[in-house]
Amino acid sequence: MQVYDYLIVGSGLFGATFAYHAKEAGKKCLVIDKRPQLGGNVYCEEKEGIHVHQYGAHIFHTANKEVWDFVNALVPFNRYTNCPVANYKGELYNLPFNMNTFYQMWGVRTPEEANAKIEEQRGEVAAKLQGREPQNLEEQALLLVGTDIYEKLIKGYTEKQWGRPCTELPAFIIRRLPLRFVYDNNYFNDPYQGIPTAGYNALIDKLLDGVETRVNCDFFARREELSGLAEKIVYTGPIDRFYDYRFGKLQYRTVRFETETLDTPNYQGNAVINYTDRETPFTRIIEHKHFESFGQAVYDNPKTVISREYSTEWQPGMEPYYPVNDERNSTLYAQYKALAQEEKDVLFGGRLAEYKYYDMAPTIEQAMLLAKRVL
Ligand code: FAD
Ligand code: UDP
Repeated sequence: MQVYDYLIVGSGLFGATFAYHAKEAGKKCLVIDKRPQLGGNVYCEEKEGIHVHQYGAHIFHTANKEVWDFVNALVPFNRYTNCPVANYKGELYNLPFNMNTFYQMWGVRTPEEANAKIEEQRGEVAAKLQGREPQNLEEQALLLVGTDIYEKLIKGYTEKQWGRPCTELPAFIIRRLPLRFVYDNNYFNDPYQGIPTAGYNALIDKLLDGVETRVNCDFFARREELSGLAEKIVYTGPIDRFYDYRFGKLQYRTVRFETETLDTPNYQGNAVINYTDRETPFTRIIEHKHFESFGQAVYDNPKTVISREYSTEWQPGMEPYYPVNDERNSTLYAQYKALAQEEKDVLFGGRLAEYKYYDMAPTIEQAMLLAKRVL
């Protein structure tokens, strides 16, 4: 018997945002998630009074005022600005690539000197490309920043994160990082940035307020029964799983988090430190308290919680985090997408169902667009 207008599979930001709008439009929804809690990858666990980003550090940033206003109307955001630091074999560099980085790398002090240095470094690859578009991440990175930055800050980190040589990765991944000739360590170019003051769970609670939810509920364990409950399905899980991997498995990267509570108020002095050499087995260390306490307030709590992130290839049973948008996977995804487009009663959205490297704000934006289109 159909009890709901929508069965929403997945309670991450896509599912939760769609559910919010569906409820506002008077629709009856059931949101299910196979995990023991709601919120997808933005879920936080509280440890020692600190919101620990259980599935990886999440910094909200956007240029979309509608999305920013939407989330701020639900919960207040703090003023956190992401300024990661890179540690290359003990040498420290500011990120993203800016005048501070160039000074640390080459001792150059003016934008003109920095530009000249980069021009000198990128000359070789520019000559090799002869005006053609970079075909892979290595070419793109060398063209953007030259050899020194590529070798010290990009190559090792990227190969650890993606488990593939930079020559086999798509160029767009590195275009996410800004390059600027000003002294500005803000990792993002977006005008709006922050973290919910009360943590991401508060945002999810607001989005799902008044919506029926079930956790520990895997859609595929009771597919027929659950599908029969609703007129339409919004599916936000992996698209290849939805079609029983009939064309083959898409590849994902996953991350193993090694989380520790330490008896010190301030372990590394920053929320994010990337270890950009190839030998250190983890990619970065996150110190969660720096996402929400600033300046002297860091010392109000005598303890801290850190997570080391180890990036590995996804295997069945693990959490799929990052789609690997290389040629093989893009071709495979196109086959699944063609099937999805034929569905009348199933709508697909989010990072896993669209096999796309969406950040939080674009995920919310896409869910809002879908809601506008179908509700
Ligand atoms: P998800 O959050 O993955 O939610 C999907 C949900 O579906 C999950 O809860 C899953 O359990 C559930 N599900 C799957 N299959 C089933 C099933 N069969 N039955 C029931 N439920 C199912 N974005 C930013 O903007 N800033 C950041 O700093 C940032 N950092 C990130 C760091 C990491 C390590 C990762 C992995 C992502 C990061 N992101 C960041 C991206 C952000 O996590 C995503 O944009 C966002 O979570 C996408 O939401 P979603 O709803 O599409 O997917
Ligand atoms: N990257 C890098 N060195 C760094 C940080 C990032 O080479 O210190 C590259 C890496 O290839 C990564 C990409 O830039 O995949 C995008 O980084 P971002 O921090 O945006 O990735 P995410 O937050 O999604 O992990």
